[in-house]
Amino acid sequence: MKFTTKSIHIGEEPDFKEGATGDVIAPIHLSTTFARDEVENPTAGYEYSRSLNPTRNAVQQKLAAIENANFGLAFSSGLAAETSVLIALLKSGDHVIATDDLYGGTQRLFRKVFQANYAIRFSFVDTSVSEKLEKAITPATKLIWIESPTNPLLKLSDIAKIAKIAKDKGITLVVDNTFMSPYFQNPLDLGADIVLHSTSKYINGHSDSIGGAVMLNDKLLFEKIRFIQNSVGAIMSPFDSYIVLRGIKTLSMRMEQHAANSRKIAEFLAQHNKVKKVIYPGLKSHPQYELAKKQMKGFGGMMSVELKGDINSTKNFIRNLHYFSLAESLGGVESLIELPALMTHASVPAEDRLKLGLSDTLIRISVGVEDVEDLISDLESALSLI
Ligand SMILES: *Cc1c(COP(=O)(O)O)cnc(C)c1O
Repeated sequence: MKFTTKSIHIGEEPDFKEGATGDVIAPIHLSTTFARDEVENPTAGYEYSRSLNPTRNAVQQKLAAIENANFGLAFSSGLAAETSVLIALLKSGDHVIATDDLYGGTQRLFRKVFQANYAIRFSFVDTSVSEKLEKAITPATKLIWIESPTNPLLKLSDIAKIAKIAKDKGITLVVDNTFMSPYFQNPLDLGADIVLHSTSKYINGHSDSIGGAVMLNDKLLFEKIRFIQNSVGAIMSPFDSYIVLRGIKTLSMRMEQHAANSRKIAEFLAQHNKVKKVIYPGLKSHPQYELAKKQMKGFGGMMSVELKGDINSTKNFIRNLHYFSLAESLGGVESLIELPALMTHASVPAEDRLKLGLSDTLIRISVGVEDVEDLISDLESALSLI
């Protein structure tokens, strides 16, 4: 089965058994508990909704299928998924190597919760240079955690190469695949052990549900993470499961449109005389364009742009836009724009921001699926006013 067929059908096969109704979409099962006819006999394996719920089960099957994984788990948020993975795999004294410009919320969880309170050590390194990653490995290293491309600088790490390094040393590799979605990148196929998503972004795609997902192939690892998920209660609700099931059905079409719009916008901005730099993995000017072509099936919908001028002209530019809402988050059908230094990455210390190349005039755009002519004319008129 190909991607879109899976995204529409898996987890939602109509049930024709006696007493079933043949629903073509998974119903929202709100019941917290499930009655049984005999003490020893839970009905169809269902006992209590935190442990197993039919709607969540449906979305978990669909999530696994679209990442080519054996198992999927759906969480209450991306960060709940991350927390469950960390608790399942680590104990005090363990060491983790992580990409140096990870998503801000992930950095906060790593630094201010696990490092500060639970004696887990983190090394933040530039994983786009695999030699730097290899150098950071110690006997205590249990986990390598990468994002590719990163946010907002869109740096890539070579997933297959890092997977090989991790495998040789018996280290588990986690890839946060939120930015590419399972349509454009499949880290398990490249050798990663665990793929993680914030379904709040592209997977749901309509900016109306917070959720997270973990997909993986190893049964033992799956059992460990599921045990923690049930123990801490980090589950996706039945309603969110329904919303995400619905969102996934159009993931391939949305991603195609995000990428097509992004290419046109990136090319338009790159030649504009008020633009200093456009960072987009689909431009030949991206330093890792070849790696992007190798490990991704498309270039996605995220780009960063540095304007000529200063913070005030940058703010004016944003103010003059009509279709790009000034907001954090990404991956929805509507275009969003933000200033990382003052918004999503304000918690990163200023000197670290500069070291990473994250200047105050860098703008991050989540390109939506609107008609690209409208988006470009909006950008053009806002640029003409600064
Ligand atoms: C949003 C995001 C997260 C966190 O997900 P939530 O659903 O907001 O908890 C993690 N990683 C990346 C790359 C994200 O963009």
